[in-house]
Amino acid sequence: MTHYSITLSYLKSLHDTPLLDLIYQAASIHRDNHNSNEMQLCTLLSIKTGGCPEDCSYCPQAARYNTGLEREKLLDLNVVIQKARQAKENGSSRFCMGAAFREVKDNNDFEEILKMVSEVKELGMEACCTLGMLTDIQAKRLKEAGLTAYNHNLDTSEEHYDSIIKTRKYQDRLNTIQHVVDAGISVCCGGIIGLGESTTDRLKLIETLANLNPQPESVPINTLVPVAGTPLENQGKVDTFDWIRIIAIARIALPKAKIRLSAGRLGIPKEAQAMAFMAGANSIFSGEKLLTTNNPSDDLDKELLNSLQFKTSKVMEPSLT
Ligand code: SF4
Repeated sequence: MTHYSITLSYLKSLHDTPLLDLIYQAASIHRDNHNSNEMQLCTLLSIKTGGCPEDCSYCPQAARYNTGLEREKLLDLNVVIQKARQAKENGSSRFCMGAAFREVKDNNDFEEILKMVSEVKELGMEACCTLGMLTDIQAKRLKEAGLTAYNHNLDTSEEHYDSIIKTRKYQDRLNTIQHVVDAGISVCCGGIIGLGESTTDRLKLIETLANLNPQPESVPINTLVPVAGTPLENQGKVDTFDWIRIIAIARIALPKAKIRLSAGRLGIPKEAQAMAFMAGANSIFSGEKLLTTNNPSDDLDKELLNSLQFKTSKVMEPSLT
């Protein structure tokens, strides 16, 4: 297992590199480690929406914010598997199931989720979950059910974290990530840009991700989609070139990870998305909804990927080495 040692000053020097030179460097590293004409499509389904006790300032699912989102129960197993089949037919090789939980409880919902994981795997897809904090035993049970990856984002730097979320600590996140690693599940961990953070906060997030051991197999990069009723509803838009710069730096610092373009892609012109692919992004979320926010339609994405002559990647169990 390679243990990387990435320093903040190195990341700052990358950030100071003229953008096109930075993209060139990232594109070279991307080509050394990945098939540059392959894109993985993932589908993310909200299996339990709303009513979350956490206070993440960006999230419409937090019960304390008045965003008009209806709280729902856990979706039925058959409904979830039907959606996974549809996602597979539309080219997705990874199916992610998200629940608005603070943490997993050892109850019937968890038993149902374990069945969902097993059945998604039986379809020949990678199965991923994002369910909040996990104990070591729960992580092991997910592994036994066949879970490929667990998503648990760090969102931002440790320093900026307290201004975004007060109901848990950065260390809580790191603890869950460790339980996931210990259970032999691959880690999907990334962040959100546009939360009012500084450039240094963005680089510190990448520093933390790049120094995890092992590095996350998957790094989702979200840009904030401001939602009315949340504390960040009036937050300004992220500059597209800043977004591409962060993708390129993430690609250089995490050469083997899948860099996944996640929330916020709807507002980004196709030419800028192509630049992000050049800079090393090699996965997108497909489907019109990303949990509760809007995402480009399958047709738009197919048009984009076809015009760039991308092939979509088939299921490939990530290596944990
Ligand atoms: S981001 Fe997740 S943990 Fe935070 S409020 Fe939303 S659903 Fe809850």
